[in-house]
Amino acid sequence: MKKYKIAAIPGDGIGKEVVPAGQQALEAVAAAVGGYQFEFEVFGWGGDWYRQHGQMMPADGLQALKGADAILFGSAGDPDIPDHITLWGLRLKICQGFDQYANVRPTRILPGIDGPLKRCRAQDLDWVIVRENSEGEYAGVGGRAHQGHPIEVATDVSVMTRVGVERIIRYAFRLAQSRPRRQLTVVTKSNAQRHAMVMWDEVAQEVARDFPDVHWDKELVDAMTARMVNRPATIDTVVATNLHADILSDLAAALAGSLGIAPTGNIDPERRYPSMFEPIHGSAFDIMGKGLANPVGTFWSCVMLLDHLGEQASAQRLMRAIERVTQDTSLHTRDLGGTATTAAVTAALCRFVAEA
Ligand code: ATP
Repeated sequence: MKKYKIAAIPGDGIGKEVVPAGQQALEAVAAAVGGYQFEFEVFGWGGDWYRQHGQMMPADGLQALKGADAILFGSAGDPDIPDHITLWGLRLKICQGFDQYANVRPTRILPGIDGPLKRCRAQDLDWVIVRENSEGEYAGVGGRAHQGHPIEVATDVSVMTRVGVERIIRYAFRLAQSRPRRQLTVVTKSNAQRHAMVMWDEVAQEVARDFPDVHWDKELVDAMTARMVNRPATIDTVVATNLHADILSDLAAALAGSLGIAPTGNIDPERRYPSMFEPIHGSAFDIMGKGLANPVGTFWSCVMLLDHLGEQASAQRLMRAIERVTQDTSLHTRDLGGTATTAAVTAALCRFVAEA
């Protein structure tokens, strides 16, 4: 029987609760559909690992992950460790080490979820945001000098390469082409940032010629926030820089009802390395260990993982089960105004997967 090796990295906080829930969901789907199995290897990296070893993951950690078919990630964040260490020491190390240059974030208002926009019907908000995930504002280029002195200087240099811009825009056009509306919005800030952002516009213009069946438009990032709130139905697929898409996708998650629902995939489209799937929320230390974490964002990330493995029937089955969970308000966790626990939601989901 076909066996998929999944590296599970729960990380910190509620990651330790939602990743095991995701593993249960994947096991349930494999049992229901048949024909393949999952083999999980769990890596205890993150804040606790840092306290013991002085680093978030071992120096040869990427080597250990390399043979996996996919990675299921929880979150990285710890109240006692600076955010830039937890982020760069684990999640970004994997994203950059495996050149997972496309960060894909689907957003929908799932059945039973009450979004905050008054006039937005569920069918008006069905987006995928594609975030450039390898360079730009998060390239890690910059430095500080004269620290603590009045003449201190600090820079974060945004790096945009033509190769990096073209590959993400091409990926987004291809994704837009595969969706029913075939529509792409390219987001930049090319009025104020007149070098790299203008290059984005030029590259988009060039790549668009290869996709005559995709309708596309351009939007400045500030105008895009207003459009997402005021005219959500005019949006389908979106591509933006690392920083811009980071912000837009948090807004998207909030507009779709809760941070606890939103999934993401860090994809290497060329499949040279394993891709990594994770809920977009962080470690949420305020609710950790209480059974309050909403596992739906992780379940939806598992749908993306299954899709990436080519197990489309399984992906659809799991998505149907997720929609049955969200539809039933007695299965809503506290972030959605309910009282259900992580364990109760997971048990119901696995039941629905078996029944579907
Ligand atoms: P980090 O620093 O790791 O990004 P954070 O706690 O600052 O973590 P998030 O975890 O992204 O930020 O979430 C902010 C708040 O949203 C949390 O404090 C928590 O109350 C709520 N929240 C996030 N994810 C979930 C979830 N899956 N289930 C329930 N509530 C959640």
